[in-house]
Formats: sequence, structure tokens, C-alpha cells
Amino acid sequence: METVFSKIIEGAIPSKKVFENERILAFHDIEPAAPVHVLIIPKKYIASMNEVTPEDLPLIGEIHAVAQQLATELGIADSGYRLINNCGPDSGMAVPHLHYHLLGGAKLGALTG
Ligand code: C5P
Repeated sequence: METVFSKIIEGAIPSKKVFENERILAFHDIEPAAPVHVLIIPKKYIASMNEVTPEDLPLIGEIHAVAQQLATELGIADSGYRLINNCGPDSGMAVPHLHYHLLGGAKLGALTG
């Protein structure tokens, strides 16, 4: 399925990349919700957390490793950060391509639910 993120992966829409390999892309969110706000996405199309399969688990683990690496590189590893995945309408998920928000660089507000 084509989404704004598949266009970013293809390069049809520009992005400020902070990490890329054959499987994963990370780039600054266009509307940052914190001083550091990076999106980490698999290049493989997975609609959401609900569609992750056991075969995807190494990829999900690698996304966490990339988040850890980026937190260090972007200077938020010690001060703290969040890694957030939105899934489905109640979460406010806007782009139907699995993605993780890496947020930090300031004291973050309380989670709501
Ligand atoms: O989790 P959710 O689907 O709401 O997050 C999508 C995110 O994608 C938003 O934070 C939005 O700012 C970001 N986005 C982006 N570049 C685009 C389109 C959306 O960084 N071209």
C-alpha cells in the first residue's frame, strides 16, 4: 500500500534522514512534538503493530537497536526518551505504515489514556 512513508522511502518525498540501512529508515518528524522527534520505520510494508508477524520480530528488534543508537547520537540517551508506537484509530495513528516515534530533549508530559 502506498503511503506518505512509502514515498519517503522511495525518495519521492524528501526527508531529513538520520539513519538508513536496507531494512530501516529514520528521519526527523515534519511536525516535531519534542526537541528531538524522529520516526523510525521499516522499509517493508507493515500496516501497523496488528500486522506484525513472528517473521518480523528480528526487524522489530533491530528497530529498537536503531532507537538506542539514535538516542545516543542525538544526545538524549542519558536525559531520557520515549519510543512510541501508535496502532489503530483510538491511538490517533495517521499514517498506516508501522512507525515508531523517538521523542526526547525535554521533560515530556504525562502519558494520557
Ligand atoms: O503515529 P502517527 O501516524 O500519528 O504519526 C505520523 C507522523 O508522521 C506524525 O508525527 C507526522 O508529523 C509525521 N509525518 C512526517 N512527514 C510527513 C507526513 C507525516 O514526519 N511527510
